[in-house]
Amino acid sequence: MIPNLSAFEYVQANSIEQACNLLAGLKKEGRVIAGGTDLLVRMKHRASIPEFLLSLNGIQNLDRIEESEDEVIIGALTKLHKIQHSCIVRDNFLLLSDAAGKVAHQLIRNMGTIGGNICLDARCEYYTHSHIFGLEYWPKCFKRGGEFCHIMKKGRYCYARFSADTVPALVALNARVTIVSHRSQRSIPLEEFYTGRGHPVNILQPDEILTEIRVPKLYSKWKGVYFKYSCRKAIDYPVVGVAALADMSGGVCKEIRIVAVSVASSPVRMKEVEDMLRGVRLSDHVISEAERIAIQGISPIPHHGDSPRYIRTMLGTFIKKALLQIID
Ligand SMILES: Cc1cc2nc3c(=O)[nH]c(=O)nc-3n(C[C@H](O)[C@H](O)[C@H](O)COP(=O)(O)OP(=O)(O)OC[C@H]3O[C@@H](n4cnc5c(N)ncnc54)[C@H](O)[C@@H]3O)c2cc1C
Ligand code: SF4
Repeated sequence: MIPNLSAFEYVQANSIEQACNLLAGLKKEGRVIAGGTDLLVRMKHRASIPEFLLSLNGIQNLDRIEESEDEVIIGALTKLHKIQHSCIVRDNFLLLSDAAGKVAHQLIRNMGTIGGNICLDARCEYYTHSHIFGLEYWPKCFKRGGEFCHIMKKGRYCYARFSADTVPALVALNARVTIVSHRSQRSIPLEEFYTGRGHPVNILQPDEILTEIRVPKLYSKWKGVYFKYSCRKAIDYPVVGVAALADMSGGVCKEIRIVAVSVASSPVRMKEVEDMLRGVRLSDHVISEAERIAIQGISPIPHHGDSPRYIRTMLGTFIKKALLQIID
């Protein structure tokens, strides 16, 4: 049986300044909560046991979608459903609205936010199935402050898998994220937000909040696709997800950005594949070669019953499908 939530204090902030001050003065383990669709499930599985939850839901303007001449700005608290259907997003980045529409199902998209999707923790079957594994009887692994990984017995860090659907699209679109704390405000490319490890999965400090995502319009004329495979079609994380965004001219690929998710602990830019495709006409031979390079370029960790071979095959298949759709 999945255990109940353990006790925690809950406070709702009404401004970013108040939220930052609350996090700065915190003496216990705290977490920001947005839609709660990921965090509350993880808390039930004891993958995270915060004593304090800071809700951002009372902060105005964090759920806005605005456009300027050269970028679209999306507040971190914007619901995935709103992104899926926003005219501003659809007109500029069909790839992003498509990826947002592929997260879980309507109920989750009505509650889940883009900020929560970006800050999603990496997933591991020891936590998603903690009621089966009986986690309390196992030694604590890296994710819980221990010195051990149940998946990679000789591993030196956490190998959990990062599986957020909107992130490959946002990285392909070269989005930036704004991070705020009582100390500073900074803006970094989303591609640099992740650590490459399953824990901690991103570079956010405990007192930092992600407030907005800025997507440049530079790529709005490029053709983009997102493919996702999940076990339970209507409601599941990707086993593999691939976003591809290309600037095509007469069958020739002038520029391309390809990003995979769920194949490692961070989103993976397929740079070798991109280099091979740049400036080349997308023939059958070139597409097969791209598939081969992609498969060779990753070393997936087995998780949730998916073998490395299976993950590689799915990745190669999606790269092929994406390229075929892009030249279409
Ligand atoms: C049944 C089910 C199916 C799902 N399927 C998918 C799927 O197919 N694809 C997918 O990508 N996801 C899936 N999810 C995960 C989740 O629903 C989404 O990723 C959602 O976007 C998370 O957003 P949220 O607002 O609910 O995040 P929360 O649960 O509120 O937070 C998630 C994490 O982000 C942190 N966080 C949230 N907002 C901020 C912020 N502004 N600043 C700093 N930290 C922040 C929280 O502290 C927490 O660690 C699924 C979840 C469930 C329960
Ligand atoms: S990959 Fe290893 S360290 Fe990470 S959560 Fe799973 S068992 Fe723990």
